[in-house]
Amino acid sequence: MAQQKKAARKTAKKAAKKQPRHAARRSAAKAARTAARPDALFAPVKGAERRVVGHVQLEVGRAGDARVKRLIYPPGFHWSKDMKPAVGTDYCMHAHVGFLAHGEIHIEYPDGCIVEHKAPQIVAIEPGHDGWVVGSEPVVLIEFDFENDTIRRTGMATSHRH
Ligand SMILES: [Zn+2]
Repeated sequence: MAQQKKAARKTAKKAAKKQPRHAARRSAAKAARTAARPDALFAPVKGAERRVVGHVQLEVGRAGDARVKRLIYPPGFHWSKDMKPAVGTDYCMHAHVGFLAHGEIHIEYPDGCIVEHKAPQIVAIEPGHDGWVVGSEPVVLIEFDFENDTIRRTGMATSHRH
């Protein structure tokens, strides 16, 4: 009898571990609350160093020779307005390779071509561009780079071409 009780308790304990009490109720409420903005996309990134540059929240960490970055651009962000003064070039001269996880961003090249990016999608942006956030949602971009050797090592074109 005692043995049976113990076994039952053990099973209950195991079940509790798998599915915490109230978990279903909590996760349903949470899912409803965060449907438009999943927490993990915006939460602090483990293994990354955080800084803020021109209203952009940047978290960066190492993975082999590459760097992995999570960038959060606020609504209203415009590179030529928010970054250009600090960077000092007419256009952003970085290549951007990665995954747009949330929001919408438009890129404009010097020849007037505008490329629209809307999450979720792959991003491959050549150097020499302006860019801005579209709409009222922040943009979350997961990016990979090799610092000053990004263009060569990702095999990206050195500029926008047709
Ligand atoms: Zn073009």
